[in-house]
Amino acid sequence: MSGRLRRCPRDRTYTLQDNCPACGGPTVSAHPARFSPDDRYGKYRREMKGWTR
Ligand SMILES: [Zn+2]
Repeated sequence: MSGRLRRCPRDRTYTLQDNCPACGGPTVSAHPARFSPDDRYGKYRREMKGWTR
């Protein structure tokens, strides 16, 4: 696991970069354990696992 997954608090875009690829804003760390409350984004997390960028 990467453990470096980050999320944009503005548009909730998941990324591995420090800045959101969608709006360019700063992202915050998204720890896997805290994804549970945001279960609706679970499918995005699965997609991100295959992300190579
Ligand atoms: Zn954003």
